Amino acid sequence: MSRGARGEVAVIGLGASGRAAALLLARDGVGVYASDGGESPATHAAAADLRAVGVTVDLGRHDLDRIARARLAVLSPGVPPTAAAVRAARDAGVPVVSEIEIGLAHLPGVPYIAVTGTNGKTTTTALVGHLLRALGHHAIDAGNIGLPLSAVAMDAGPAGRRPDWIALELSSFQLHDTPSVAPVVAVLTNLSPDHLDRYPSAAAYYADKARLFANAGPDSIIVSNADDPAVQAMVAAVPGRRFTFSAAGGAGVSGGSAAVYRRPPAGAPDRAVEGTGDGGWLDLLGVPLLQRSQFPLLGDHNVANALAAVLSVALAHPSHATPEARARLASGLRSFRALPHRLQLVGEYGGVQWIDDSKATNVSSARVALESMVRPTIALLGGRHKGEPYTSLGPPLRQIGKVVLAYGEAAPMIDQDLGGVIPVERLGSDFAAVMARAHAHAAAGDAVLLAPACSSFDMFRNYEERGATFARLAAARS
Ligand code: ADP
Repeated sequence: MSRGARGEVAVIGLGASGRAAALLLARDGVGVYASDGGESPATHAAAADLRAVGVTVDLGRHDLDRIARARLAVLSPGVPPTAAAVRAARDAGVPVVSEIEIGLAHLPGVPYIAVTGTNGKTTTTALVGHLLRALGHHAIDAGNIGLPLSAVAMDAGPAGRRPDWIALELSSFQLHDTPSVAPVVAVLTNLSPDHLDRYPSAAAYYADKARLFANAGPDSIIVSNADDPAVQAMVAAVPGRRFTFSAAGGAGVSGGSAAVYRRPPAGAPDRAVEGTGDGGWLDLLGVPLLQRSQFPLLGDHNVANALAAVLSVALAHPSHATPEARARLASGLRSFRALPHRLQLVGEYGGVQWIDDSKATNVSSARVALESMVRPTIALLGGRHKGEPYTSLGPPLRQIGKVVLAYGEAAPMIDQDLGGVIPVERLGSDFAAVMARAHAHAAAGDAVLLAPACSSFDMFRNYEERGATFARLAAARS
């Protein structure tokens, strides 16, 4: 892109993605105006980097008139679509694109596998990248997973090394403004209502997810979850070669799936518990690939993530499905480890397991965490309410729950929805006090699970800080 007569590019939001896009555009010689409504040490540092390369920066304010005169507006993913700066651009007819769109424009010809869905995106994306590297590729994990695509493009610049492949995680917000998305393989993990605080309806949220397929054609490869009716409804009309994975293992559904979790026969343990039984097999393209017990992550949902990832990598290129490649894929699954704050065992003290699933920020992900538990569980639920009822947590809590510790802003709603199913202790917003109650309840053989079903923003900066605090207080009192 070159400096246009019709003005400059406005970058809205100076998180890591906005900063990376602004740097990339400035390197091209494009005039850039970057602004962020907030001021923090991080935005000040970003502003200094940008000013050094000639970008005009405002912190603590957006110059709405200037944004309205821009020829293009680039959105950082954290900026809500309702923000005044975004509205100023849209109202003035300025095209609005995501930072991903800028990154893609700078990485022509680099193949990528794109992953979206309500839950499991990051784990699946990390698995895809890990498996591509297991095949010997120079593959990079980018997008919503943490590394902005524009930063990848910057590193791959004239003197840099272009990746062979990219594993690209895309959120619904990013998809909303990425019109040229065209992955070699598009992966849809699952769909359930989420972000109802930022979308008017579940339908509007699903519509953004469907944009992953906006440019699909006859050669596109679509990998989707056979066990999820909403996913199947969405992909039914998408052109291309469609493949499915199934962790449910029901003969009817999984019969046609290209990657399947084949469970152990009735009577054998139905989930892999360390050291017990084989837990069944993961089959790829009709042939057994790996025993379930060889894949280290907890929970059937992670089997689904593994199947989605291994299938998409195997399909991405013919050389990825040879016997030698299959052996490398199997060994890649064996060497993968749980990501931080995602059903991560952070300690075992006095026979009590402390499990950090702070990333379970919605009800459906908290539910899968509870369903993965094999010990009597003290469940920490709470934080900022996001709009969904908690009642669907009742069945797994009835099975495995000892007590729910409900805390933060959502505590009254959690108590109301689950109080009839399981003892609920309603606590306040002092997390140390919540952890003290967890220690008081926990006995040898129990698990304490942080899977809050809520966002963290009433009490913490983000889910990472919440998870780290949990791990620290678990260790401190033990
Ligand atoms: P995302 O990037 O979509 O938020 P993550 O891989 O970070 O997904 O996982 C977030 C949470 O969602 C995890 O803590 C886990 O509880 C849950 N989860 C992970 N994979 C799945 C899945 N396939 N289905 C349902 N829930 C999942």
